[in-house]
Amino acid sequence: MKDRRRISHSLIVTALAFASLGAATPPTPKPGAVTSHVLVISIDGLRPDAIAQYKPQTLLRLQREGAWAAAQTIFPSKTLPSHTSMLTGVAPDVHGVLWNSEELDERGYVRVPTVFEIAHQQGFTTAGFFSKAKFRHLEKPGSFDYSQAPRGDIWMVTKTIGDAQHYLKFNQPNLLFVHIGEPDYAGHSVGWMSVFYRLAVRRADAAVASLLKAAEKSLGAGNYTVIITADHGGHGRDHGSDDERDMRIPWIVWGRGVETGRVSTDIKTMDTAATVLWLLGIRQPEGWSGRAVASAFTPAARLAAAAAIEAAGSKAAVPR
Ligand SMILES: [Zn+2]
Repeated sequence: MKDRRRISHSLIVTALAFASLGAATPPTPKPGAVTSHVLVISIDGLRPDAIAQYKPQTLLRLQREGAWAAAQTIFPSKTLPSHTSMLTGVAPDVHGVLWNSEELDERGYVRVPTVFEIAHQQGFTTAGFFSKAKFRHLEKPGSFDYSQAPRGDIWMVTKTIGDAQHYLKFNQPNLLFVHIGEPDYAGHSVGWMSVFYRLAVRRADAAVASLLKAAEKSLGAGNYTVIITADHGGHGRDHGSDDERDMRIPWIVWGRGVETGRVSTDIKTMDTAATVLWLLGIRQPEGWSGRAVASAFTPAARLAAAAAIEAAGSKAAVPR
């Protein structure tokens, strides 16, 4: 019964998505404004001070060569509400996702437009590699060229990164999102900033290195822009509160269009969605609380984004 309901729901949503495109053919990939390829990597439960303290090689290099800041997540600082804000550009009172488990049958998909959905409907190709089942709420029909999330509970980084690397061998997505779970798993089982957590951060760092190697090969050196962030921090063996240790997240941007240095703007997690659209040259929907972190990019990049968004004008309609 549940399955039947889900299938008919997906069919309706898919039909609506195609109807709004005006054709039943998949959109062709197109060039973006600042960059044609955006990679967003979310490292679950990564505290910015863990980077400062443990000095993981790759994250530290990306900070040094790119632009970065400590950013703020939303309250409640939990995985699904936070990632929903990160990927929809709106706060929890707007997206309504306050639960933190896979309840697709009961609650359905996220009801506000996601960054994948908007990019996809504007003709950009999108892919998502999720390590937790709860992300299925974000896998709205008609928003991904490819996406995967576990049916059970979680996947380890070896599975998720391996699959993403394989995907990059044959595809050059405009927008690629990859979620790494390890620091969060370690935090919950042994504690944030414990030795086990430190090892998990190192493992995540190595995974980022191999993903970037695959991206370099697939998309070309200097031809893509990477945002690395997290959904929340943590303290003790949990997170979810408004404690600074839970609310602070890293925000690093590196690659095409980026101006090296420290970003002084106050960054909130909704700004990730806004920055992704801005990089591709898509006007962001009215009512978003996220703002593109333009100050992290070169003057030429800012001009390119502004020109593309201006040219798109009001045609950049938002899916409803
Ligand atoms: Zn999380």
